[in-house]
Amino acid sequence: MKRVYNFNPGPATLPLEVLQEAQAEFLNFDNSGMSIIEISHRAKPYEKIHNQTKADILELMGLGEEYEVLFIQGGASLQFAMIPLNFATKENPGSYILSGTFSSNAYKEAANLGVGKIAASTKDENFCRVPTQAELNIDKNSAYLHICNNNTIYGTEFHYIPETGNIPLFADMSSDMLSRPWDFKKFDLIYAGVQKNLGPAGVVVVVAKKSLIEKSLETLPTMLRYDTFYKKNSLYNTPPAFSIYMVGKVVKWIKNCGGLAEMSKRNSKKAEILYAAIDDSNGFYKGHATKDSRSFMNVTFRLPNEDLENKFVAQALENNLSGVKGHRSVGGMRASIYNAMTIEGVEILADFMQKFQRQNS
Ligand SMILES: *Cc1c(COP(=O)(O)O)cnc(C)c1O
Repeated sequence: MKRVYNFNPGPATLPLEVLQEAQAEFLNFDNSGMSIIEISHRAKPYEKIHNQTKADILELMGLGEEYEVLFIQGGASLQFAMIPLNFATKENPGSYILSGTFSSNAYKEAANLGVGKIAASTKDENFCRVPTQAELNIDKNSAYLHICNNNTIYGTEFHYIPETGNIPLFADMSSDMLSRPWDFKKFDLIYAGVQKNLGPAGVVVVVAKKSLIEKSLETLPTMLRYDTFYKKNSLYNTPPAFSIYMVGKVVKWIKNCGGLAEMSKRNSKKAEILYAAIDDSNGFYKGHATKDSRSFMNVTFRLPNEDLENKFVAQALENNLSGVKGHRSVGGMRASIYNAMTIEGVEILADFMQKFQRQNS
């Protein structure tokens, strides 16, 4: 069986052990004589997985009773709209740090509703870094400050947690959820589309303070209210059971590997290898992100010209290295090195980069 080294940004590579385990029990889940995708979401064996996955996520994040885990569909993109719908008003708007495409999309949803404010932006620098604390200008009446923790397209990541005073802090962690220990208690609401780092597409994990999500506006449609998911244990309607089941397996895999500290160790090592390949290339490879904002999850870089970039993508694939082409808004390359990407895969990519440079400069 031939598997490639998969550097796709999302959907993305998952741990091989997890895929194999799911394959082995696909036809007969928990001795039910049925597949996980055939059984009722009200059945005991499913509920067990549902609740265990929630508990494992909180445990990994070091969060207790005051937080709740919700499973919501519609992708991270629906969260962009649900957040201002549930929490922002004209008097208490949502404030946003614009640090890339997704944070800008999140802001647009609030702005469309007339309840969005910009607290800082690095758009003028083509989002090559995240704004610093000193640059933040947060409206004091804000209902929340929203950040995108890791900017998947530009390859930048927050390496500090913004100080907001009494203003609740919300974060899109779609592309770096559970990749490192982080002071999650400083956040009031965290969400992540799971298809980057935690499982197959189909569900968003929302981790939020119960006191925040207990009550939503009565006028909102049922499925757009956080309290619907909270009060019904995310089982108001049929949840995406297969995605949640897979997230459960990935989360267990993270725990068995040694938790977030071990993930962070591996992820730093991988990032270090690739950034060294860029920094030691005498300018052949140029990183997009400034050094202090570099992402541990998505490494973005350009080559001297587009012809070489196309050649790089084609030859990488011949070497079993898939998904290295960057997003069109940055150009060049992007290697996504989420939790499941092995150090070996990254070393092979770095070797390939060095060989490619020797042959083409
Ligand atoms: C991929 C991504 C999104 C969009 O997620 P969907 O689930 O496709 O809506 C949002 N934010 C970040 C940081 C992402 O990486």
